Amino acid sequence: MEPIHSDVSHVIITEAEIRSRVAELGARISEDYAGESVLLIAVLRGAALFVADLSRQISTPVELDFMAVSSYGSSTKSSGVVRILKDLDEGIEGRHVLVVEDILDTGLTLKYLLKNLASRKPKTLDVVTLLSKQGKQRVPIDCKYVGFEVPDEFVVGYGLDYDERYRNLPYIGVLKPEVYAD
Ligand code: IMP
Repeated sequence: MEPIHSDVSHVIITEAEIRSRVAELGARISEDYAGESVLLIAVLRGAALFVADLSRQISTPVELDFMAVSSYGSSTKSSGVVRILKDLDEGIEGRHVLVVEDILDTGLTLKYLLKNLASRKPKTLDVVTLLSKQGKQRVPIDCKYVGFEVPDEFVVGYGLDYDERYRNLPYIGVLKPEVYAD
């Protein structure tokens, strides 16, 4: 096993745990959408790694599209004001849409996104998030699939960044607080 990055205080989800949970999620999604085509909409950039692995664990036909949003605020706190930086390439009306997120924190980003996507009249609209932060005052989001509940700490790795770094770590780890003096 690789040594952990010196900016990471501890690993909370290992590479093997991620792999096995992503396979479980893929199997459930394959069952739930059996015989149907599902459009995975990944929210860039954090969900890029997750959607790459998840899509390969789904046996029903999958299409991929991407959105990029930016939430105004500091780099470690979400403000709820969301701007679409990159919109979908195709329409979603009448399609089974599954939004793929890296982490649900306050829920403000997803709340905005879901409202926006719902107005485009998909046949179904659901969410799969790799991580969900516990104990946050957040807007209620009906998340159909959750990979892991994580403590209310700033985490990085497997797509999640701090200041665009650490996305390529194969595990999810807690960043040492001194790395992001906020
Ligand atoms: P929310 O709007 O508070 O739910 O924030 C969602 C977005 O904030 C995620 O998609 C991430 O991009 C970012 N985010 C929230 N918590 C973390 C974290 O612990 N590490 C890295 N990014 C995070």
